[in-house]
Formats: sequence, structure tokens, C-alpha cells
Amino acid sequence: MERYEFQFFVGREFSRLVLENKLEEVCSLPQKFNPHEEEARKIILAYLGALSFDESIEKAIRNKEARPVFPLILCSREKIEELPPCPTGALYLDKEGRTNIRQRGCIACGRCTRDNFFAYARTGLLNSLNLLKSGRKVTALIAPSIDEQFNIDSEQLEKTLKQIGFDKVYNVKYGAIMMAQNEGLELEKCIKCSDWMITSCCASVKELGLKLFNVIENKHSSARTPVEYTSEYLKKKDPDNLVIFIGPCFAKIVECSRNKNVDGVLLFSELEMIFSAYGFDFSEGVPSYSSELSTLSKKDGISNAVKGFCSVPAKSLSISGLTRNTMKQFHSWSRDEKPDADLVEIVCCPNGCISGPGNTSRVRKNSKILLD
Ligand code: SF4
Ligand code: SF4
Repeated sequence: MERYEFQFFVGREFSRLVLENKLEEVCSLPQKFNPHEEEARKIILAYLGALSFDESIEKAIRNKEARPVFPLILCSREKIEELPPCPTGALYLDKEGRTNIRQRGCIACGRCTRDNFFAYARTGLLNSLNLLKSGRKVTALIAPSIDEQFNIDSEQLEKTLKQIGFDKVYNVKYGAIMMAQNEGLELEKCIKCSDWMITSCCASVKELGLKLFNVIENKHSSARTPVEYTSEYLKKKDPDNLVIFIGPCFAKIVECSRNKNVDGVLLFSELEMIFSAYGFDFSEGVPSYSSELSTLSKKDGISNAVKGFCSVPAKSLSISGLTRNTMKQFHSWSRDEKPDADLVEIVCCPNGCISGPGNTSRVRKNSKILLD
């Protein structure tokens, strides 16, 4: 069984217990997954927001204090032969050959969590389930790449989201258009001054700018992110409504933790677990990637939108998928070298959010087709 499939089964049972107000029963949940109890225990600890795998499930349940977002990735000290790729080198093997993560270099891209049983992200699943049970009105703020995640159309998706407790459904694409408009005007000014600009909706790239490359932070447009624009609009319109952002990756958990207008975060994979806990299964079929919304979350999607709002011709460069080589390119920009473009779009995952680490099993199953 693939790792994401195993995580799905554990997450579905976890969600079911939380929705049925049986959180205490989570303590014995790992035993159900015999002989893979240890893997199940790690997944559950991550959902409970534990700060390390040394914590017990009982203690993590009792702990009601707000925990910091970092460390976002919990790493068990495994002895392994070969490290999975980490774009920043934050994941390393210590002198004893055990896995570890340097927090100051981790950009929450989630690449180390893809196929390994030693790294899990602490997510907002428990918090979001609690918000959905709270009796308050909750708006689902969905990322554009949701189009490919489930084998249903947008009408059916909205209906199902309402069946599991959401009151309204809103798409981040509205904020993406506002961002592109503002960036189009900014790009125009940049070109007139022979300068260049970075655009990125990618939350891992934001972390990269904050933690490792000032040049990315400094050259990034001053526009806010699509989630910021849309969540602000929603809170102004309906201040009492809670907002849960539903998206493709862990880095968005970091982004939303800094946004007072977002109350919770769910991954697409976690939404799939909740759907399944309610008896809905939309996992069949191969995603088609034909809709207008999905183009925004693909490689070049945002830079094409930004150029559409810029009245002078602009040359763009797309960096999709962070690697050690792209890091070299960022180092050269830090030394004041200019890219051969007016606008550089950077996204962490190859081909953009459609290959994010929080996608549903339907997308994961077909990821080879999607990335070709
Ligand atoms: S989340 Fe990404 S940056 Fe952080 S340790 Fe894992 S692979 Fe490296
Ligand atoms: S490309 Fe999209 S899915 Fe991947 S890290 Fe960036 S925001 Fe997340």
C-alpha cells in the first residue's frame, strides 16, 4: 500500500472519531492498524499537533495550549541509506546516519513527507473538524486546484461541502485576479525603470524569501496573496462567519497562520478523509485539467494573468519545481545578477499546485500522467 493510501485510512478513522465526539478513543486507534501501529501513531500525533513523536497520544489530546506552527514537519530519527530530495538541504543525516531537520532552513514544501514513513506534517485537521462541529457558520475558501481533486463538478462539490457542515463556498480565484491586477500595474512601473519583479502565490517560496534568500522577498511584488485578498473580503462581508481555507499543501498552513481572517486550514487529502467519513467517495477517474480555474494553479498560470494586466510587453521566466540548481540561480540574483526576464514566476512544486503534497488519492494515483 502506498503511504498516502495508508494515511487516508488512518485520517478517515481519526476524522470519524472526532466528528462522533469520541476523541478519547483515538488513543487505541493505532492498534487497529496492526502491524503498522507505529506509522499510525505518528500520523495521529501529527494531527493532534504534537511537537515531537516522543509525546504520547494521551498527552497530545490533553494539551489544549496553542502550539507554534514550526516545527511543521515532525521527523523521527530513522537510520536510512539515502535521503529523499530536500530543495534547501534542511533535511539531513546526522553523524549517526539518522534523519533530522534544521528548522531555520525548512520551507514547509513537504517533499520529505511524500513517500517516507519518518516525516509527517502537523496539520489543521483537528482544529478544522472542531470548527465544523462548533455550530457556527463556516465558509469553505477553496484553492483553484480543487477542480482536479474529486470526480465531481463544482455544483456537486458545493452541495457536498454543505452536507458536511459548511455554510458557504468561495473560490480563491477572485483574490488571484485582484493580485494579478495589482501586479500587472507594478510590473509596468518596473519595466519602465528597467527593473524586474517576482510573482508567486507559493507559500513555500514566501518562506524561502523570509528564511534563505532576501532577494526573493525584496524583488517580490508588493501585492498580497489570493488567500489574503479573498479572506479579507469574506470577513468584511460576514464578520461572524468562520473561514476554513482548503488547499494543496503544508506551506499554506504557515501562510494562513499569519492571516487573522483565516480560522482553519484543511488539505485536499484531509477533505477527502472527511468526505469518506461521511460515506462520500469521489476518488475514481483521471483528472482532466481543462477548466479555466485550474490554469491559475499550473506552471505559468499567474505570470500569464499578470502580463494580461500589464499594458507594455513583458518577458517572463517560469521556475517551477525548486532544486539545488534553482538555488544556485537565486544565489546569483543575490549577487545582483539579473534574470533574462522582466517577470519571474516561482513555484516550489513541479508544474505548480497540481503536484502539491496535500492532494487527494485520485490526483496522487495519477500524478505521473499529470506531471508528463
Ligand atoms: S519540508 Fe521541504 S524544506 Fe522542509 S525538510 Fe522537508 S523537504 Fe526540506
Ligand atoms: S506550488 Fe502550490 S502546492 Fe506546491 S508548495 Fe507552492 S503553494 Fe504549495
